[in-house]
Amino acid sequence: MSYDEGNIFARILRGEVPCKKIFENKEALAFHDAYPQAPVHALVIPKAAYQNVYEFYQNATPEQLKGFSEAIVNVIDLLGLKEYGYRMITNHGLYGGQEVPHFHVHLLGGKPLGRMVTVRD
Ligand code: 5GP
Repeated sequence: MSYDEGNIFARILRGEVPCKKIFENKEALAFHDAYPQAPVHALVIPKAAYQNVYEFYQNATPEQLKGFSEAIVNVIDLLGLKEYGYRMITNHGLYGGQEVPHFHVHLLGGKPLGRMVTVRD
């Protein structure tokens, strides 16, 4: 399946939809999730058009990998997540529950988050 240029994160990257920005560099953008699942819920996305983590790791340039990693570290620092910890998640595809088909990681924290996954039937 090819990349959907109309997905909401592509629209945020083009400036068509607003976001609450946390950090930006040449390769990545970080912003607050619109429907937070924890007191702190940030999203970090690459600016390049990758649909999921598999595509990203398979195809990203060294600059893209470095820029994306740096964005994650900056968000952890800026949101004060390091001291008590946080959870970093990426969802891929149907079984992963991915809703937005532009690669992103979730950074969640601000309170104890409990066990890692709740699987519902
Ligand atoms: P996924 O389920 O694809 O891993 O996560 C997509 C995330 O994007 C969800 O946590 C959802 O709340 C968030 N989201 C969906 N639409 C918007 C939006 O327009 N703005 C922001 N900031 N987050 C969004």
